Amino acid sequence: MKRRIASHYALIDGCLERNIIVEVDALGTITRIEHCTDLDREAGVEFYPGILIPGMVNAHCHLELSYLRGAIAEGGGYATFASEIGRVRGGFSDEERLRKASIADAKMWAEGIEAVADIANDDLIMQIKEESKIEYKTLFEFFGLNNYNTEALEELASRYKNASVTPHSTYSVQDREFRSICSGSRELLSLHFMESENEVLLYLHQGPLNEWYNRMGWECDFICHGSPARRVAACVAEDTNLLLVHNTCAKEADVTLIEQRVKGGATWVLCPESNRYISNLCPPVKMLEELGCRIAIGTDSLASARTLSMVDNMRLLGDVPLVRLLTYATINGAKALGLEATKGSIEIGKSPGLVILEGVDFATMTLTDTAHTYRLL
Ligand SMILES: [Zn+2]
Repeated sequence: MKRRIASHYALIDGCLERNIIVEVDALGTITRIEHCTDLDREAGVEFYPGILIPGMVNAHCHLELSYLRGAIAEGGGYATFASEIGRVRGGFSDEERLRKASIADAKMWAEGIEAVADIANDDLIMQIKEESKIEYKTLFEFFGLNNYNTEALEELASRYKNASVTPHSTYSVQDREFRSICSGSRELLSLHFMESENEVLLYLHQGPLNEWYNRMGWECDFICHGSPARRVAACVAEDTNLLLVHNTCAKEADVTLIEQRVKGGATWVLCPESNRYISNLCPPVKMLEELGCRIAIGTDSLASARTLSMVDNMRLLGDVPLVRLLTYATINGAKALGLEATKGSIEIGKSPGLVILEGVDFATMTLTDTAHTYRLL
């Protein structure tokens, strides 16, 4: 049984178009996209107020941290957040962790998230992800300046479909381990990148990270790279799908250097709700747009965000045109995860999921405070 679905607008080919009817078959594959002159005169069309968009892609999440919702106070800055998370992490049972991850997964699906690049530290919640309707790409993150054993994590990742290993960041992994994970035929890498100024300062033997490492007696053998961006450009294979997450303190020169290195460009994943929660910094969305970068949106975890809502994150990106925000949230994320053949856009032959964005002010084409998404199929 085919369904014909319409809304006030539909996101087609990177544009918001009116008078579109999308026909899908029973499996959710798009079989036809009709341009009509007057929707009111079409019979057998399901009409939903709002904007019809494809299922969204959350390009950065830590589903396993869903149990920490509200456990860490807002606005403490990155160093405080990092130490707080260490403090509160242990105080919950596996049952509680599983329950909260399961609830968050179901909510993301209902809100129209189709695929997720999900960071993991262990495999406790892998079964939830394997059984979910959402397509997860799990990235087990390797970190620790005294951790030289990448094999154990590689072995863990190899037990699961759609799982691989990634370095946590440019400040928490030594050189040999960083290189061994980044080089080779890695399909997907995701790095927390330039979330705070301290990451840059470390490479200048300055700042709180440097002081902390000195106090602990930890030495970094990667400072010779000169900066986080130079380290990435020197170590990452050029044909990797590279996701750089946060980028709040990235400068134009950093972005250009990495864009030149990675074939087809990196994906610059922005998590503005998490930035607001932790440090009140805003990602440089304008600069990234001007440089022509591929921008995607991540929700980060419930440890550093009130919700895992893509709309809440879009709203925080300020005066970016809505159609661009929707592009970040859909096809750009799909490209970042290598899923663009089937997901991320409303095109014949694809089965991207269909979602309604409600609560848009059509006069200004902006998201209102009550804007939200829900899944149709
Ligand atoms: Zn993260």
